[in-house]
Amino acid sequence: MIPDKVKIETIIKELQKMMRIQDTSIQFEFKNAIEMYKHTNDNTTLAQVDFDRKHNLVRMRMNSEPDHCDGLGYGDWYYEIMHEMYHIVTDEFMTFIKPLMDGNLEGRFKEVFEEQEERLISRLADIFITTYPVTNFNHILEG
Ligand SMILES: [Zn+2]
Repeated sequence: MIPDKVKIETIIKELQKMMRIQDTSIQFEFKNAIEMYKHTNDNTTLAQVDFDRKHNLVRMRMNSEPDHCDGLGYGDWYYEIMHEMYHIVTDEFMTFIKPLMDGNLEGRFKEVFEEQEERLISRLADIFITTYPVTNFNHILEG
Protein backbone atom coordinates (compact mmCIF):
# COMPACT_ATOMS: atom_id res chain seq x y z
CA MET A 1 0.00 0.00 0.00
CA ILE A 2 1.29 3.44 -0.95
CA PRO A 3 1.45 5.99 1.90
CA ASP A 4 -0.48 9.23 1.57
CA LYS A 5 1.03 12.41 0.13
CA VAL A 6 1.85 13.99 3.52
CA LYS A 7 3.74 10.90 4.69
CA ILE A 8 5.71 10.67 1.46
CA GLU A 9 6.56 14.38 1.68
CA THR A 10 7.85 13.89 5.23
CA ILE A 11 9.98 10.93 4.14
CA ILE A 12 11.34 12.91 1.18
CA LYS A 13 12.37 15.69 3.61
CA GLU A 14 14.29 13.20 5.76
CA LEU A 15 15.93 11.65 2.71
CA GLN A 16 16.97 15.10 1.47
CA LYS A 17 18.92 15.66 4.68
CA MET A 18 20.58 12.26 4.45
CA MET A 19 21.49 12.82 0.79
CA ARG A 20 22.60 16.44 1.33
CA ILE A 21 20.11 17.94 -1.12
CA GLN A 22 18.14 20.10 1.33
CA ASP A 23 18.69 23.18 -0.86
CA THR A 24 16.49 21.75 -3.60
CA SER A 25 12.72 22.19 -3.22
CA ILE A 26 10.92 18.99 -4.07
CA GLN A 27 7.21 19.16 -4.86
CA PHE A 28 5.60 15.76 -4.70
CA GLU A 29 2.35 14.91 -6.48
CA PHE A 30 0.35 11.80 -7.22
CA LYS A 31 -0.90 11.59 -10.79
CA ASN A 32 -3.33 9.10 -12.23
CA ALA A 33 -2.21 6.91 -15.13
CA ILE A 34 -3.55 9.26 -17.83
CA GLU A 35 -1.94 12.37 -16.32
CA MET A 36 1.30 10.46 -15.88
CA TYR A 37 1.26 9.47 -19.54
CA LYS A 38 0.85 13.13 -20.51
CA HIS A 39 4.10 13.95 -18.72
CA THR A 40 6.14 10.99 -19.86
CA ASN A 41 4.58 9.72 -23.11
CA ASP A 42 5.24 6.29 -21.67
CA ASN A 43 2.70 4.11 -19.92
CA THR A 44 5.25 2.11 -17.96
CA THR A 45 6.38 4.99 -15.75
CA LEU A 46 5.71 4.67 -12.03
CA ALA A 47 7.52 7.80 -10.94
CA GLN A 48 9.27 10.67 -12.63
CA VAL A 49 11.03 13.97 -11.92
CA ASP A 50 11.09 17.27 -13.83
CA PHE A 51 13.75 19.86 -13.10
CA ASP A 52 13.21 23.60 -12.89
CA ARG A 53 16.91 24.35 -12.44
CA LYS A 54 16.52 28.12 -12.51
CA HIS A 55 14.42 27.94 -9.32
CA ASN A 56 16.19 24.93 -7.83
CA LEU A 57 12.86 23.15 -7.88
CA VAL A 58 12.05 19.54 -8.69
CA ARG A 59 8.58 18.19 -9.36
CA MET A 60 8.34 14.53 -8.44
CA ARG A 61 5.32 12.66 -9.74
CA MET A 62 4.16 9.22 -8.75
CA ASN A 63 1.61 7.12 -10.58
CA SER A 64 -1.36 6.63 -8.26
CA GLU A 65 -2.73 3.83 -10.46
CA PRO A 66 0.15 1.40 -10.75
CA ASP A 67 -2.23 -1.34 -11.88
CA HIS A 68 -2.87 0.69 -15.04
CA CYS A 69 0.82 0.59 -15.79
CA ASP A 70 2.23 -1.64 -18.55
CA GLY A 71 5.53 -1.96 -16.74
CA LEU A 72 6.48 -4.47 -14.13
CA GLY A 73 3.78 -3.20 -11.82
CA TYR A 74 4.32 -1.73 -8.46
CA GLY A 75 7.34 -3.30 -6.91
CA ASP A 76 7.93 -0.94 -4.12
CA TRP A 77 6.96 2.73 -3.63
CA TYR A 78 10.07 3.26 -1.44
CA TYR A 79 12.32 2.03 -4.24
CA GLU A 80 10.55 4.35 -6.72
CA ILE A 81 11.10 7.36 -4.45
CA MET A 82 14.76 6.44 -3.95
CA HIS A 83 15.26 6.02 -7.68
CA GLU A 84 13.94 9.53 -8.29
CA MET A 85 16.00 10.92 -5.39
CA TYR A 86 19.16 9.61 -7.09
CA HIS A 87 18.13 11.33 -10.33
CA ILE A 88 18.15 14.55 -8.27
CA VAL A 89 21.52 13.75 -6.65
CA THR A 90 23.12 13.02 -10.04
CA ASP A 91 21.40 15.84 -11.95
CA GLU A 92 24.29 18.29 -11.76
CA PHE A 93 26.69 15.74 -13.27
CA MET A 94 24.17 14.64 -15.92
CA THR A 95 23.40 18.25 -16.85
CA PHE A 96 27.11 18.79 -17.38
CA ILE A 97 27.80 15.64 -19.35
CA LYS A 98 24.73 15.35 -21.62
CA PRO A 99 25.32 18.45 -23.79
CA LEU A 100 28.91 17.32 -24.38
CA MET A 101 27.57 14.03 -25.68
CA ASP A 102 24.84 15.59 -27.80
CA GLY A 103 27.42 17.62 -29.66
CA ASN A 104 30.10 15.02 -30.05
CA LEU A 105 28.78 11.51 -30.04
CA GLU A 106 26.65 9.28 -32.19
CA GLY A 107 22.98 8.72 -31.38
CA ARG A 108 23.49 5.06 -30.52
CA PHE A 109 26.07 5.97 -27.89
CA LYS A 110 23.63 8.43 -26.33
CA GLU A 111 21.02 5.68 -26.12
CA VAL A 112 23.48 3.31 -24.44
CA PHE A 113 24.59 6.07 -22.09
CA GLU A 114 21.00 6.69 -21.02
CA GLU A 115 20.45 2.97 -20.41
CA GLN A 116 23.61 2.91 -18.32
CA GLU A 117 22.45 5.97 -16.40
CA GLU A 118 19.21 4.16 -15.50
CA ARG A 119 21.14 1.06 -14.46
CA LEU A 120 23.44 3.09 -12.24
CA ILE A 121 20.54 4.95 -10.64
CA SER A 122 18.69 1.67 -10.06
CA ARG A 123 21.73 0.09 -8.41
CA LEU A 124 22.26 3.09 -6.15
CA ALA A 125 18.59 3.02 -5.15
CA ASP A 126 18.81 -0.73 -4.47
CA ILE A 127 21.87 -0.25 -2.29
CA PHE A 128 20.20 2.56 -0.36
CA ILE A 129 16.98 0.66 0.37
CA THR A 130 18.96 -2.43 1.41
CA THR A 131 21.22 -0.40 3.70
CA TYR A 132 18.42 1.79 5.02
CA PRO A 133 15.18 -0.20 4.78
CA VAL A 134 11.76 1.41 4.78
CA THR A 135 11.19 0.25 8.38
CA ASN A 136 13.40 3.19 9.41
CA PHE A 137 10.40 5.35 8.53
CA ASN A 138 7.88 3.46 10.62
CA HIS A 139 7.59 6.47 12.96
CA ILE A 140 6.14 8.36 9.97
CA LEU A 141 4.29 5.50 8.28
CA GLU A 142 2.51 4.36 11.41
CA GLY A 143 1.89 7.87 12.73
ZN1 LIG B 1 15.18 6.60 -13.82
